[in-house]
Amino acid sequence: MSIYLDYNATAPVDERVLTVMVECFRNHFGNPDSRTHDFGEDARQQVELARGQVAQLLGVKKDEVFFTSGATESNNIVVLGLKDYAIKTNKKHIITTSIEHKAILGAAEHLRDEGFKVDYLDPDNTGRVRVDELKRLLRDDTALVSVMHVNNETGIIQPVNEIGNFLEEIGVHFHIDATQSCGKLVEEIRKLKFDMMSISAHKMHGPQGVGALVLRKKKYKLPPIKPIMYGGHQEHGLRPGTLPVALIAGFGKACELAAEEYRKNDQHCLEIKKILLELLDSVGLNYIINGDQKWCVNNTMNVSFGVPSEAVMLSTKKYCSVSNGSACTSQDYSLSHVLQSMKLPQEQIKSAIRISWGYDTDIEEFKNDFRLFLDTVKRLK
Ligand code: PMP
Repeated sequence: MSIYLDYNATAPVDERVLTVMVECFRNHFGNPDSRTHDFGEDARQQVELARGQVAQLLGVKKDEVFFTSGATESNNIVVLGLKDYAIKTNKKHIITTSIEHKAILGAAEHLRDEGFKVDYLDPDNTGRVRVDELKRLLRDDTALVSVMHVNNETGIIQPVNEIGNFLEEIGVHFHIDATQSCGKLVEEIRKLKFDMMSISAHKMHGPQGVGALVLRKKKYKLPPIKPIMYGGHQEHGLRPGTLPVALIAGFGKACELAAEEYRKNDQHCLEIKKILLELLDSVGLNYIINGDQKWCVNNTMNVSFGVPSEAVMLSTKKYCSVSNGSACTSQDYSLSHVLQSMKLPQEQIKSAIRISWGYDTDIEEFKNDFRLFLDTVKRLK
């Protein structure tokens, strides 16, 4: 098997998370909304324990955490759930970025088709959007600004800190898609000012199929978000449906582990990044790193070798499992919307490879397999 280097698509479940989940499937199988017996109450306790673990990691209150099926759903609830408020208050302007995940872009497009005005911030070639440009786009009728924390394709950290501080002053709703930063930029997230935040368990060694939407209370009031599905009253009616207790418990455990171990994990990821750079330089290949590394997280690198990415991936498959962008777009052959927004040359975009790793990536295995990867790329040139 090749070494897995596609952690930004999904990260392997931590064994300790798995243990919690198996225990939950076995012994806490009740429906947390069953009020008539102890099985329900027991499952409820598992859910509330996890809610506390998520809240602790993010530095928010427990009652500000709402479980969803993942960041795609959380993002959709934010954008579509704000529609009624926007119409009532006649604030039908949204600002987002052209490098967001498709869950934001698609939902925003849907509102645009319904008469909303959507403005998109483009990054410069560093991969970052600019705060002054955002300020220029703001209008009296801006209902929502949505900016991701870390881009999933480039790993570039966006200026959500400055944006949050500014938007809080002027009272515009701010949503952050923190799917790729949650559990990694722990201290940074705790300091951020925002109204809404999307996160997902499977990007942080938790299970697939569960995530959260964080809604921050201001003066005891939640942001004016309406549910986008109808059903039971679960999660305060914001997200109806029987709670997946074991997935939620696993998510909670992943958050607890991240809160305890993020410094150590980050050091490990940084060490791999250094080795990656050394190897890149040692084999005598021409390469370009996409995005300014000054702003890049330690587990991601997006790099172009001047060889079409499809050819690179196919011929190196037995050594390294990498990707050429987000998993959501890797099935089609369209060029990365993120790198296009950065206005990189077409050849550079066509040959871009995303390499992403995690705290459990084995250093010796990485050294060995990545060297074989680079040797193969060299032969393709
Ligand atoms: N936002 C970002 C930035 C992501 O990277 C992803 C996953 N690729 C999502 C949202 C969607 O997350 P999920 O898989 O939990 O729906």
